[in-house]
Amino acid sequence: MSKHLTCCGEPSLGLLKTLHDKSHDSESVRQCASCGVYWFHRWHEMIDFDGGDDSMTDWYTRITEDESRTLMSANGRPDLGFLELGKRPSICIDEQGARETGGQPGHSWT
Ligand SMILES: [Zn+2]
Repeated sequence: MSKHLTCCGEPSLGLLKTLHDKSHDSESVRQCASCGVYWFHRWHEMIDFDGGDDSMTDWYTRITEDESRTLMSANGRPDLGFLELGKRPSICIDEQGARETGGQPGHSWT
């Protein structure tokens, strides 16, 4: 999935800290090993109980080093409101492909 990221020519994301990890959604702070840019990553799986295909969505938002530090040092769940729609350009990736969005959900599903 990291080929869709826009930080550099050869993005390769390493995990810095998992903020939230459940079977159907996760949130983490990542850093590109090639250029050092920080990203917030959210993954969410929507289960189709009617027997259709489950759908998975990834969101990536570029964050500053300060923001990554704030997220990683938070006690409990950090405030993710600054990522909400309209506030931060993000990349959304699902089975339709990758597209740019104006933000991502500022909270998880669980
Ligand atoms: Zn990069």
